[in-house]
Amino acid sequence: KENTTKENNVAKIKVVVRKRPLNKKELARKEDDIVSVCDNAYVTVHEPKLKVDLTAYVEKHEFCFDAVLNEHVTNDEVYRETVEPIIPTIFQRTKATCFAYGQTGSGKTYTMQPLPLRAVQDLVRLLHLPVYRSQRFKLWLSYFEIYGGKLFDLLSDRKKLCMREDGRQQVCIVGLQEFEVSDVQIVKEYIERGNSARSTGSTGANEESSRSHAILQLVVKKHTEVKESRRNNDGNDSKSGKVVGKISFIDLAGSERGADTTDNDRQTRIEGAEINKSLLALKECIRALDNDQIHIPFRGSKLTEVLRDSFVGNSRTVMISCISPNAGSCEHTLNTLRYADRVK
Ligand code: ADP
Ligand code: MG
Repeated sequence: KENTTKENNVAKIKVVVRKRPLNKKELARKEDDIVSVCDNAYVTVHEPKLKVDLTAYVEKHEFCFDAVLNEHVTNDEVYRETVEPIIPTIFQRTKATCFAYGQTGSGKTYTMQPLPLRAVQDLVRLLHLPVYRSQRFKLWLSYFEIYGGKLFDLLSDRKKLCMREDGRQQVCIVGLQEFEVSDVQIVKEYIERGNSARSTGSTGANEESSRSHAILQLVVKKHTEVKESRRNNDGNDSKSGKVVGKISFIDLAGSERGADTTDNDRQTRIEGAEINKSLLALKECIRALDNDQIHIPFRGSKLTEVLRDSFVGNSRTVMISCISPNAGSCEHTLNTLRYADRVK
């Protein structure tokens, strides 16, 4: 099946797997590394099993993806494999999305955090090219969270946001703050600010943020003359620009959280059901996109509704599936690979 467009040869959907190294705890417990990567495209999980007579054996599960990155691959190389090829398409009316999927602790945040920094570097460099310089393009950043099916702006004191659809089926997140960015340092500051605003719940730990999806968007807009009346209250003119293209970086909730649907705690159950719903809806939307289906089932969840305009028209999707190598994570790792396999 044709999965590229003629103009730039960048795959419409790309599924990449990244394996992290064993961590100190796993090494201390002398856990086995049961994941092997071959030819940058194949991954095999060696599942330890027991026969009825209790003799041990290994069941192998092999998968093939667009790319499989082993534990020695750096974040820079991840960028080059996933986001870099998409960057020029942002100037050609493309809406791109890059997801990190996987169980808590598999490396989603480690993988995702540096990507927007590198992307901004490249986008800013392109903005200054003679072809674009004359066009009054500006780059805007926003950062929000979907938690329990609700939206919160991470860059304005967790203000609760709502979504509206305009007449042309464009989604609009009412009140979401966008900040103009022109260098990497300022982007770093926004990301840090947003991270500290992420849901931490009463325990304060990473625990709660694993139940939310964090979405960082970089939007290129074309600005014609700024009319005073259309300026924002806070004086920035993000509203006056016309969207040229955008890229969304999405650090998804821990995939194992979708199974928290029988937990004793009611709140945890509700959140688990919401996460389960959104990850299933996401898979369905990407599959529909891949099959060039006219009907894309966005309405399945808040996550997919928010991403609606990134699933229609000229879109690019990169799914980075993060996996842990240790034997103790075998079941989650297989679940993640099966999910990625369905998306592909
Ligand atoms: P997640 O966001 O999926 O819950 P994290 O990104 O927080 O997982 O990663 C869990 C831990 O593993 C962190 O301490 C992180 O620094 C480390 N880690 C993850 N991926 C890698 C990697 N590829 N190389 C080295 N350390 C990693
Ligand atoms: Mg994380």
